[in-house]
Amino acid sequence: MCCNSKRRFLLLYATQKGQAKAIAEEIWQQAGTHGLEADMHCISEMDKYNLETEKDPVVIVISTTGTGDPPDTARKFVKKIQDSTLPPDHFAHLQYGLLGLGDSEYMFFCNGGKTVDRRLQELGAQHFYDTGLADDCVGLELVVDPWIDGLWLALKEALLLQKEKEGMNNVVDAVTSSLSPAPHVVHELNLSSEVQNLKLEDEGAKSSDVLSQKVDDINLVTPARNTEPSLVNSIPPLSQSALNIPALPPEYIEVQFQGTHGENPHLSSLISEETTFEVPVTKAVQLTREDAIKTALLLELDISDTVFDYQPGDAFCVICPNNANEVEELLHILGLSEKGDDFVCIKVKQGTRKKEHLPKLQARSYSVSSSNLYQPGRLCFVFNIVEFPACPARPVSRKGVCTGWLAELVSPLLHPNKNTLDTKGESFSTEKISIFPRPNNTFHLPADPSVPFMMVGPGTGISPFIGFLQHRQKLREQHTDWEFGETWLFFGCRHQDRDYLFKDELRCFLENGTLTHLKVCFSRDSSTAEVAPPKYVQDIIRLYAKEVARVLLEEKGYFYICGDKKHMADGVSDAVVEILSMEMEADRLEAMKILAMLREEKRYLQDVWS
Ligand code: NAP
Repeated sequence: MCCNSKRRFLLLYATQKGQAKAIAEEIWQQAGTHGLEADMHCISEMDKYNLETEKDPVVIVISTTGTGDPPDTARKFVKKIQDSTLPPDHFAHLQYGLLGLGDSEYMFFCNGGKTVDRRLQELGAQHFYDTGLADDCVGLELVVDPWIDGLWLALKEALLLQKEKEGMNNVVDAVTSSLSPAPHVVHELNLSSEVQNLKLEDEGAKSSDVLSQKVDDINLVTPARNTEPSLVNSIPPLSQSALNIPALPPEYIEVQFQGTHGENPHLSSLISEETTFEVPVTKAVQLTREDAIKTALLLELDISDTVFDYQPGDAFCVICPNNANEVEELLHILGLSEKGDDFVCIKVKQGTRKKEHLPKLQARSYSVSSSNLYQPGRLCFVFNIVEFPACPARPVSRKGVCTGWLAELVSPLLHPNKNTLDTKGESFSTEKISIFPRPNNTFHLPADPSVPFMMVGPGTGISPFIGFLQHRQKLREQHTDWEFGETWLFFGCRHQDRDYLFKDELRCFLENGTLTHLKVCFSRDSSTAEVAPPKYVQDIIRLYAKEVARVLLEEKGYFYICGDKKHMADGVSDAVVEILSMEMEADRLEAMKILAMLREEKRYLQDVWS
C-alpha cells in the first residue's frame, strides 16, 4: 500500500476490536477519489514507517481499551514516544491529524487517543487538522463521518504547505487544482444526515437541547468559534446538558435468508480472530452463601490439552452467545420466529459509508484466579452473577450476558443431585467454553521474591491474589533457600459468614507463612464495639499507615489493587496519598507526585474495572 507520490500521506491505525482499522480502511479507500494516496499500516508495524523522518502528513486513528488504555497494538508505540529522554522538538517536523475512538460511558473517554495526541504535542508535532473524538455511546459515525469529510481539504492544505516549505512551488499546481478557493483550512463540520434528519417530538427547549447536544458530540476538540448556539455550534449551558438519545443509524445492511442448510461456521471463528481454545469446565463452586447479596462463582477449566499459558495476574476472555430466550423473543417481535434456524447472508448495502457495520460480539474478560505452578493444566476464575433488577424501563429482571450464561451452563456442577452423576457419585460436565488469552503486561508478582508487597482486593477483586498466593506457596516449597519478602492482603466484603470469599484458603496461606498479614473488614456486619470497626479496605489501610509507608518507600515494595475502579480503587489511592503525606510530612501535592512516581516505576499497580 506504499507509494512515493507527492500526494502521499501516512495513515496509522491502532485497533483493539477492529473499528479503528475499519475506519482507517475507509479513509484509505476514499483517499483515491480525492487524488491522494495513503500509506496505511497498523501502528504496531514499526518497521514499516518511521515518524522520526516522516515528512508527509500523518493521520492516526486510535481506539481506547480497558480503563482508558491505548489498544494493545499501540503499546510499543506509546512506550517509545513516552521515552522521557526525547527532546521537546523530537517531532517538530511532523504534521498530523488524529481521530480517537471511545465510549463516554467509561471514565477516561478516548484516553488512548488523548494520550498519543498529548505526547505528540509535547514532542513538537503540529496538528494539520483538529483532533476528532468519536463516542461509541451515541454512534461513532456522528463524529467519524464529518471528520473524514473535512480531512481531505486539510490534507491538501497540509501537503501544499509542505511543498511550499520545501521550495517546490512548481509542483504545487497539481495539488491546488482540486482545492476550493478558501485561503485556509475550514474546519466547519457537515452534520451527518442522521443528525440533520433527527426527528424529535416538538418539546420546545428539550428538543433543542437534544439537537445541541448531538452537535456538541460532533464538535472537535477545539472550542466552537461562534458564541451563539446553532446547529453547527453549541455553547454552554446547552452543550453541557446530559442527554442520551442515540441517533438512529441509517439502514446499511441487507439480509437474505438461506434456509436451514448450509455450512455452520464455528462461532468463535465468526467473533474472534485471536487464538481461541475450547476447553472443558471441570469444576464450579459457589463461593457465597445463599443469603449473600451477590452470588460469586468459581469455575475451573481444563487447559491441559491446549498451549494456553498464563501467569498469575493475567486475564483472559470468554466468548459467550446471546441469551437463547432473548433471541427467541427478538425473533418473535420481528415476526421471524419461523426463521430461527435459518442461515442468513448479511451484505453491506451498496453506497453505505458506514464502516463499522456489525460490531463483533464482545468477549468478556476475567482475571485468572489460579497459578499454573500450583494447579498445572488448570485455570480458575471468579465472577459475580450480575443481575439487573426489574425497573420501569426493564419490566423483567435479567442477568448479565456472560455471567448469566456461565451460571446456567455450570448449574449441573453446582447442583449435582438434580443432574447426572458418574459412577463414583461425583458430578461431571461435558460443557466446554471458548476462551482466549488477554495477558497483562505489568500486574504480576515482583520479579524479586525478597521484595515485600501489599494486595488490596475486596469482593471478587481478590481473584488474582489467590493466583499470586498459590504461586508464592509453590515457590516457597520449591526454593527453600530463597529469601521471601512479607506479603499483605487487605480484603473486604459485606458479611463475615456470607461472602467472605476464599476464607479457608486464606487461613491456610496465613498458617503456612505464604501470607504474612491478612486484614479483613466487613461493611455490613453489626458491631457492639465502642469504636466502630473499619468498614472498607481503605479504612484498614489507614490503620497500617506506617507499614504502608515502610513497604513502599523504604523497602521498594509493591502495592496491588484489584476491583471496582470508580469507588474502591480511587478511595484506596486517596488513603495512600494521605499516608504518604502524613508519613513524609509532605503536602498533598507532593504526596500525589510520589504516588505518580510509584505508578511510573510500576510498583503501584491496578487491575480495576468500571
Ligand atoms: P462487592 O461485593 O460489590 O463489594 C465488596 C466490598 O466492597 C463490599 O463490602 C462493599 O461494601 C465494599 N465497597 C463498596 N463501596 C466501596 C468503596 N467505595 N470503597 C471500598 N469498598 C467498597 O464487590 P464485587 O462486586 O465483587 O466487585 C469487585 C469489582 O472487581 C467489580 O467491579 C468487578 O468487575 C471487579 N473485578 C472482577 C474481577 C474478576 O475477575 N471477576 C477481576 C478484577 C476486578 P458495601 O456494598 O456494603 O458498601
